[in-house]
Amino acid sequence: MKKIGILTSGGDAPGMNAAIRAVVRKAIFHEMEVYGIYNGYQGLMEGNIKQLGIGSVGDIIQRGGTILYSARSEAFKTEAGQEKAIEQLNKFGIEGLIVIGGDGSFQGAVKLTEKGYPCIGVPGTIDNDITGTDFTIGFDTALNTIIDAIDKIRDTATSHERTYVIEVMGRDAGDLALWAGLADGAESILIPEKPHDFDMVIDRLQKGQQRGKKHSIIVLAEGVGNGMDLGNRIQEATDMETRVTVLGHIQRGGRPTGFDRVLASRLGAKAVDLLLDGKAGRMVGIENNKLIDHDIKHILTSKHELDMDMVHLANQLSI
Ligand code: ATP
Repeated sequence: MKKIGILTSGGDAPGMNAAIRAVVRKAIFHEMEVYGIYNGYQGLMEGNIKQLGIGSVGDIIQRGGTILYSARSEAFKTEAGQEKAIEQLNKFGIEGLIVIGGDGSFQGAVKLTEKGYPCIGVPGTIDNDITGTDFTIGFDTALNTIIDAIDKIRDTATSHERTYVIEVMGRDAGDLALWAGLADGAESILIPEKPHDFDMVIDRLQKGQQRGKKHSIIVLAEGVGNGMDLGNRIQEATDMETRVTVLGHIQRGGRPTGFDRVLASRLGAKAVDLLLDGKAGRMVGIENNKLIDHDIKHILTSKHELDMDMVHLANQLSI
């Protein structure tokens, strides 16, 4: 294989740039040409493609976002859209494609692989909701952004003796809420994977108040419900002064942590190795600090499992 393409798709995640850099440098090290496809699958269909040199990925390892931009494309989900993409791949002579993104992006990679274009998936999403890898690129940075925000909120919560509800990202996956809640000693952590007991949330708050706690933090994953509604219900049920902070898109941005930079570099380079080995339809991942790869189709049909031992631990530590 002499020419490969790379694109980022779906929600952006800090560390995607470090992965792009690793793919480009590793491929050039192996005397391959690398083509950057801008705006995800939309750009692929439109032929928004440029060759990337060693210098074009300089000074990006520390930057959030993605220099290749990202897009969500409905058109690419159709047969006609995928045919257009293939025409462009043929035009540029691209023989294999590396897709950095989440499970939606991997669906696209499977479709192209089935049409004869070897694709390798690199898990890039802050949600950590992909099975077959212990961590996705961007999760650690988003986690640290949330921790930083909660630490700041905690200062004002203590000064005013308030209860704070912090709504974090995670429509279907509670990893960010769970890790941040554990790291910040939250009273309650509400995640989509486990139904919560509102009375228990109130009970914990009241017990904390009785033993003289100056503030309380509740972390809520967005998939569980609206933070404002929860805040109102808590205030009504307890008469405690309650405030709500929805962290929103700040969780997506910022300088990637050292962990994410190293993870992205390792996974990006591994993806190039797989293409060189003639593999297709695989996703690279990390398990027990070892690089591995799985059949993407298998990844897409198995459900990401939250670590329930961590849920129990968080409950035990927040008594
Ligand atoms: P995140 O987890 O951050 O949302 P994602 O990769 O899951 O990232 P999606 O919006 O689900 O994000 O998917 C990104 C793009 O992948 C879509 O806009 C579409 O172009 C392509 N895609 C998604 N599902 C399919 C599919 N079934 N067939 C072909 N392409 C798809």
